[in-house]
Amino acid sequence: KLFNELQELKGNIRVYCRVRPFLRGQGTSNTVVEHIGEHGELVVVNPTKPGKDGLRKFRFNKVYSPASTQAEVFSDIKPLVRSVLDGYNVCIFAYGQTGSGKTYTMTGPDGASEEEWGVNYRALNDLFKISQSRKSNITYEVGVQMVEIYNEQVRDLLSADTSQKKYPFFCSTWILSTTQQSGLSVPDASMYPVTSTSDVLKLMSIGLQNRSVGSTALNERSSRSHSIVTVHVRGKDLKTGSALYGNLHLVDLAGSERVDRSEVTGDRLREAQHINKSLSALGDVIFSLASKSSHVPYRNSKLTQLLQSSLGRRAKTLMFVQLNPDITSYSESMSTLKFAERVS
Ligand code: ADP
Ligand code: MG
Repeated sequence: KLFNELQELKGNIRVYCRVRPFLRGQGTSNTVVEHIGEHGELVVVNPTKPGKDGLRKFRFNKVYSPASTQAEVFSDIKPLVRSVLDGYNVCIFAYGQTGSGKTYTMTGPDGASEEEWGVNYRALNDLFKISQSRKSNITYEVGVQMVEIYNEQVRDLLSADTSQKKYPFFCSTWILSTTQQSGLSVPDASMYPVTSTSDVLKLMSIGLQNRSVGSTALNERSSRSHSIVTVHVRGKDLKTGSALYGNLHLVDLAGSERVDRSEVTGDRLREAQHINKSLSALGDVIFSLASKSSHVPYRNSKLTQLLQSSLGRRAKTLMFVQLNPDITSYSESMSTLKFAERVS
């Protein structure tokens, strides 16, 4: 019921904006956020244009203030996550410049306590809980894949040479049927069955260790790759023998900041161009879905190809648009908001 309400909000695409708090030692007075309304309104002020002329109003399905907790955010998306058990394909993204809170929202801070867990852990936890409490004639199996897209190359973050035990039989049979069902195009990535949150924690920490990270001019740890956690769910009706498949993609996108071509060369420039290309391809796909266009350009990037089955008209998509409230990020925040405005 809750989900139907959500659904009516905006077809199958929702955009939630999350403003992160100022960090310790960052001060609090220099914010670009003028107002956050209860119905998804966000008013941003241009620091070089004080007064009415500098105000710009946006509207999303929801806007979270810096005071919002991880639990609050998750409780809003729970119905979306649970629809995977009914056979839906769901995609949840975090978009924004480096340092805007994408990883915080999706995974949580480094060494997160349970309270600080992000969407990934909470979603899996909830799926376990719900699937175990549902009607006993349906059994659910849950499998997890984790890949990264770096420079348009897909890399398996859970590949075999980890200490984890692999389950090739389970993978090959299940992945085959799952990929045929959903058109998912990463059949080569290892998939691990999970039955508890502690399994998930172990897998994620291996995956995180395997991610490419580098440091930016902002001198912060930054991700120049997209990371995708895919949760496959197979529900089997023990009476009829029929099966139901759903999958959930949890995507922590690469930083959306524009890179000054005059300042970077070589690897950095190439990375920036790949990121740029894939983020605009993603924007184009979501835009054409939202505008009900007859052609959806999935082919323009690895990211959109990989997520095709979960970015369709029958799938459900949620984008977290992350904002750093500091005035020094004003122009990046504006371009983030404009990207979001186009797809919402
Ligand atoms: P990104 O992944 O977009 O580069 P991070 O998630 O790493 O950004 O966030 C940058 C910093 O801000 C981290 O230290 C993170 O813990 C902190 N942070 C982000 N969002 C929040 C939040 N909602 N509450 C508290 N701290 C946050
Ligand atoms: Mg990050």
